[in-house]
Amino acid sequence: MKKILIVIFIICSSIRTFAVSYSVTRCEPSFWWVGMKNPDVQLLVYGSSISDTKPSVAYPGVTITNVTSTTNPNYLFITLQVASNTVPGKFLISFSKDKKVVTKFEYQLFERVSGSAQRKSYDASDVVYLIMPDRFSNGDTANDSHSAVFEKANRADPNGRHGGDIQGIINRLDYLKDLGFTAIWNTPVQEDNMDRYSYHTYAITDYYKIDPRYGSNADYKRLGTELHNRGMKLIMDVVTNHCGLNYFWMKDLPSKDWVHQFPQFTRSNYQISTTYDPYASEYDKNLNYNGWFDTSMPDLNQDNPLLLTFLIQNTIWWIEYAGLDGIRIDTYPYNNPWKVADWSRSVRAEYPNMNIVGECWVHTSQELAYWQTGVQNFDGYDSGLPAVMDFTMHDAYLTAFTEEDNWNGGMRRFYNHFTQDYVFPNPNNLMIFTENHDTPRFNELINGDMQKFKMAYTILFTTRGIPQFYYGSEIMMRGEKNKGDGDIRKDFPGGWLNDSQNAFVKEGRTSEQTESYEFIKKLLNWRKANPVIATGKMLQFIPQDNWYVYFRYNVEKTVMVVVNNNPQTRKLDTSRFNEVLKGFTSGYEVLSGVTVSNLATIEVPSKSAMVIELKK
Ligand code: CA
Repeated sequence: MKKILIVIFIICSSIRTFAVSYSVTRCEPSFWWVGMKNPDVQLLVYGSSISDTKPSVAYPGVTITNVTSTTNPNYLFITLQVASNTVPGKFLISFSKDKKVVTKFEYQLFERVSGSAQRKSYDASDVVYLIMPDRFSNGDTANDSHSAVFEKANRADPNGRHGGDIQGIINRLDYLKDLGFTAIWNTPVQEDNMDRYSYHTYAITDYYKIDPRYGSNADYKRLGTELHNRGMKLIMDVVTNHCGLNYFWMKDLPSKDWVHQFPQFTRSNYQISTTYDPYASEYDKNLNYNGWFDTSMPDLNQDNPLLLTFLIQNTIWWIEYAGLDGIRIDTYPYNNPWKVADWSRSVRAEYPNMNIVGECWVHTSQELAYWQTGVQNFDGYDSGLPAVMDFTMHDAYLTAFTEEDNWNGGMRRFYNHFTQDYVFPNPNNLMIFTENHDTPRFNELINGDMQKFKMAYTILFTTRGIPQFYYGSEIMMRGEKNKGDGDIRKDFPGGWLNDSQNAFVKEGRTSEQTESYEFIKKLLNWRKANPVIATGKMLQFIPQDNWYVYFRYNVEKTVMVVVNNNPQTRKLDTSRFNEVLKGFTSGYEVLSGVTVSNLATIEVPSKSAMVIELKK
């Protein structure tokens, strides 16, 4: 009886052994490069029971230095060390069980593009055009409803997919260059295979793949090339805080701590201030970092070193693959701040010139400065972020043009804001904006008032910082945040073949749109040719009687910006500004092309701004 049982056991064991078939269904990143500063690359290898196997590589220069398995046998994390003299090429990674190779796949190392590590990034000499790809231009109607993803096109739904794509953006690059923009930041284009609201694409379901409704990875790389061919730059929107609920790993997590988990859905309290509030409770702090951004967006746990490395490498992979010029990172303060700072530092260790702007939506300069690298924070925290978005200046735009000028209101909002710049290690590396894809459209706030439009954008394009401009505002697009996000993310007229209006071409613009378009074009092209705005110093005077006057200057040039926020044409007595004006005898007003022959008294039309190049 005992013998029979043993025989049965052996047979069953054999059957079990033969029944296991090993295969690798995913390896990320799927390729890498020789000559990276960090010689290590961590591969996430996914396949049934793959952790039962032992990986090996036989390729000169490549060694496996670490293999980590998790509580889930379907994952193996393999660190390859790539010696700097490795010859780029293909090789096999083999997986053995009981000394027999049970599965293998081909891996490839590419040669880096020359100068890749030292690439230049964006700075205050740039003006960034912000695009929501689904809503800008449809260059390929064949991909609008793709069979590989759930949500199909429905242009009638403000929250649905409308069909815009990467080819559409490429088709409009000449338009943007002509306007004077030098860089684009588009909201994410990686796969967002959620069944609803996927058009905003912040619920990414594959970090390594462009959503097929936008095109392919090759199309995104081509976007970078097409921008570079025009002397323009590509800024990628990176999301490390959360992924989409339909990410493949959500059905089979590498480990329980890959995402933050709660007994039931638990939302972030979105209280960034808990990071530095001296009285904050651990409960509130944890909820800020660990709560989910939304029901469809699981909160990733950057405390898990395997995940953190995955996220760092993913950003480096896109920079290297698509030739990126810059990064914008979403919801920075909702990540674990100390860990996401490792992400920033690691990306910049590979690319020391890479500019990264963080979305840190706070309302005082003091709080904003907490998030800019180089600041001396009370708790020793350094975000690693070279740039932050100037949400405080955005707050000024929310009301400055619709309220009375008084001690704190109107033009005083800008003046007051700039007086606080001493808190920033680098105020010129703040991204400044009147609006973005999450805020009310500025033209809605000012009720389409052309005079206010021109004053607002004169300030935006002549003060310190990196201006960012939201798509469609050059043609005065409007939208109300309180009607839902769809209203502030409408389709650009003419981006779709049968649109009744095509505002991308001169003949398609109304006279009002022509005026706003030509204004932006003139100002931006002047800015491009006058580096005093990007790199010069700034000097401002206290606003008085609804006048706001400031100067930008360097050794070669001095520019005077005069904003008359009065409802009447007025004459400005400039004796107050003599410390700057002395020695100058006249000026050239950029927007009108008129010479200002008398600098002692300058007449400025109601509700308007002048940009005056001063002449000796
Ligand atoms: Ca399309």
